[in-house]
Amino acid sequence: MARLNERQEEAVKYVSGPLLVLAGAGSGKTSVITQKIAYLIRECGLKGRNIVAVTFTNKAAREMKERVGKLIEGPGARGLTVSTFHNLGMNIIRKEYKTLGFKPGFSIFDQQDARALLAELMHKHLTDGEDSIDVVQHTISNWKNDLVSPQQAMDRVRNEQDLLAANVYSAYMRTLKAYNAVDFDDLILLPVQMFRDHPDVLARWQEKIHYMLVDEYQDTNSSQYLLVKQLVGTRAKFTVVGDDDQSIYAWRGARPENLIQLNEDYPALKLVKLEQNYRSTSRILRAANVLIANNPHVFEKSLWSQMGEGDEIRVIRTRNEDSEAERVATEILTHRLRHDTHWRDYAILYRGNFQSRLLEMKLQEHQIPYKLSGGQSFFSRAEVKDMMAYLRLLVNPDDDNAFLRIVNVPRREIGATTLEKLGTYANEHHVSLYSACHDAALEEVMEMRYVEKLRSFTRWMDTLSRNSEHDPMKAVHQLVAESDYESWIYQQTKSDVVAEKRMGNINFLVNSIQSTLERADEEASLEDAITRLILRDMMERQEEEEDDDRVQMLTLHASKGLEYPNVFMVGMEEDLLPHRTSIEEDNIEEERRLTYVGITRARERLVMTLAATRRQYGENLDTTPSRFLDELPQEDLVYEGWDQRSTPEQRYARGQEALNDILKGLDL
Ligand code: ATP
Ligand code: MG
Repeated sequence: MARLNERQEEAVKYVSGPLLVLAGAGSGKTSVITQKIAYLIRECGLKGRNIVAVTFTNKAAREMKERVGKLIEGPGARGLTVSTFHNLGMNIIRKEYKTLGFKPGFSIFDQQDARALLAELMHKHLTDGEDSIDVVQHTISNWKNDLVSPQQAMDRVRNEQDLLAANVYSAYMRTLKAYNAVDFDDLILLPVQMFRDHPDVLARWQEKIHYMLVDEYQDTNSSQYLLVKQLVGTRAKFTVVGDDDQSIYAWRGARPENLIQLNEDYPALKLVKLEQNYRSTSRILRAANVLIANNPHVFEKSLWSQMGEGDEIRVIRTRNEDSEAERVATEILTHRLRHDTHWRDYAILYRGNFQSRLLEMKLQEHQIPYKLSGGQSFFSRAEVKDMMAYLRLLVNPDDDNAFLRIVNVPRREIGATTLEKLGTYANEHHVSLYSACHDAALEEVMEMRYVEKLRSFTRWMDTLSRNSEHDPMKAVHQLVAESDYESWIYQQTKSDVVAEKRMGNINFLVNSIQSTLERADEEASLEDAITRLILRDMMERQEEEEDDDRVQMLTLHASKGLEYPNVFMVGMEEDLLPHRTSIEEDNIEEERRLTYVGITRARERLVMTLAATRRQYGENLDTTPSRFLDELPQEDLVYEGWDQRSTPEQRYARGQEALNDILKGLDL
C-alpha cells in the first residue's frame, strides 16, 4: 500500500463496521475502493465471491476489475462482483425470477421500448401530443425510484397530469408482466420489493455477501439505498464513498440526503474524510473550491494539492459558435504539436449532447481523431435492433414488442390489418401475440390464409427455439440463414457497400453472442447471453467501447469519476451552463455542482470557452457569459478575446494604434 496516505490507509484497513468516506474530487475515493478490495482478499482472507463492489458505469467497473486483478495474483479474486447497480439487480432477478413470478428469459425494455409501450397504452388518453408520453415516462420512473407502487401513486395524485400518469402506471406494470419483461428501473425496484416480501430469499443473499463497497454514493436513489441496506443486513459491513458536491442526478431521483440518512441508520458509522487532492494543480483546485463554496454545505471539506500552482485557467470568448468549435480544434492541434502529447489527453466537455455536432465537424475538418460518448451506438442500428428482436422472441415468445418489430421483416405478407386483428384477439384473451397465433379460435376472427401466414412464422420460430436448447449457436446461425435477412437487406439498400456493412454488423452481433456464451462462468444459455448483451448495450450507450488514442467528447454528466490532463469546457454561457430549465426552475445549485465536476476532471490545464453570439431559432442572438465565470477566483483566470464585439470604430482605432507601434519600431 505504498501509494496510500495515512487517511486513505485508515479507510482501507477499517473493516469492522460501516464506513463512509466523504471527500472532494480527486482525493482518491475510487482508489480506496480498489485497494480495499485487494486488502479484503489478501489480508482479511475474504473470498472474491463474497465481495460485491458497485460503481456507476460499466467502464468504471471494468477498470476497477482490471486494477484489482493487477493487485492480486492467483485465483483469490475469482467470483468477485464489480458491477453497476443495474447489473447487480439484473443478476438478482436472473437468479430469482421464479420468486418474482417471471418465466425464464425475461426481456429488458430499454427507454425506447418502454416509451413505445407507453405510447400504445396512452393512445386513448393522448391529450397534449407526444410530450405527455415523456412526462408520463419520467413520472413513472421517479415513482419507481422512490418505491411508490401504482396504488400509492393513485393516492398521491395532485393534478390531472399525475392522474394520467398514475392510470397509465398500473396498466404499464401489468403489461410488462404479461410480456415477461422488465424496464430499467425495475432492475433495482423488483429485487428491493422481493427482498422486502421474502426474508428467506434475502437471508440467502446476505449469507453470500460478506462485504459491500459503493462508489459515487451521493448519486444513489431511494431504491438503490434500500438495496444496499437490505444486502448488508445487520452484519453492516460496508464502505461507501462519495462527495455531496458531485451529486448531479437529482432528475433521476438521486438523493444526496442518503449520506445523512446513513448516519441515522447506522449509529456506529465511521467517517473518514480525505483532503489531499492528487489530480489537479492548485489553481484548478482553487477554482473548483471557490466556485462550490457558493453552495450551502452540510459537510465541510477542504481540499489541497501538492501538484504545483500550474497554468492559469483560460477563458476564451469567440465571435460565434463556429469560431468556438474551430478554436477548440486548433488549440488541441497546436498544443499537441508543442507538447508531444496523445489525443486521449484531451477532453471536451459540454452540457448537452446537441453541442457536440459542430465540434465534431471541426475536429473532422482538422483530421483530429475523436471518440464521442453517447453517439449512435451499435445497438441502435436498425439491422441490429431487428436481429435482437428475433433473438428476444426466441428466448421469450411473449415479448410483443419484439414480435411486432420482426413478424413482417423480411416481408411475410403479414399486413397491418392482420396484426390489428391479432392484437385485439390477444388483448381480449389476455395472451401474448405469439401464443395467440396458436389458438384455434383465431380462425374465427380472420381468414384462414392469414392465420396460416402467422402460423408458418411461429412454427419456424418454435423449431428454432427447440434447437436452441441443444445448441444455442447453431440455432442463431440457422436463424440468420433461414430468415433470409441478408437478401432482404440487399433489396432494401441501394448500395451494396451499405448492405455489406449492415451484414457485417449482424455478423459482429452473432460473434458477440458466441463470445458471451463462451465467457459465461456458469452454465451458459442463450437467454443469459442475450439478456447480458441487451443490458450491456443499454449501459454502454453513454460510454465508450474502446480506449484508443482519441480526443474524448462527452457530457459533463458522463465525465464523472474520470480525469484528463487537458480539459475544455465549452459553452460557458447562461442558458447552457446553467441550463435554461434549471434557471427557470431555480435549480442553480445542481448546475454549480455540474460545473464543479467539470473543473475537477482537469489535471494540468483547463480552458473554458464561450461564444459571443449563438444561433437560436435561425437567428444570431447575443449570449450572456455564465454566472459561474464571475464566481471563479479572478486572479487565476486569463481572459482571451473578450473585445471581439467592439464596434468597427474601436477596432479601427486599435488597428491604427498597432500600426503606429509597428512604424515606431521600424524607426523610420
Ligand atoms: P472523483 O471524486 O473525481 O471520483 P476520486 O476521489 O475517486 O475522484 P481517484 O480517481 O481515486 O479520486 O484519484 C484521483 C487521482 O489521484 C488518480 O489519478 C489516482 O491514481 C491518484 N491518487 C489517489 N491516491 C493517491 C496517492 N495516495 N498518491 C498518489 N496518487 C494518488
Ligand atoms: Mg472516483
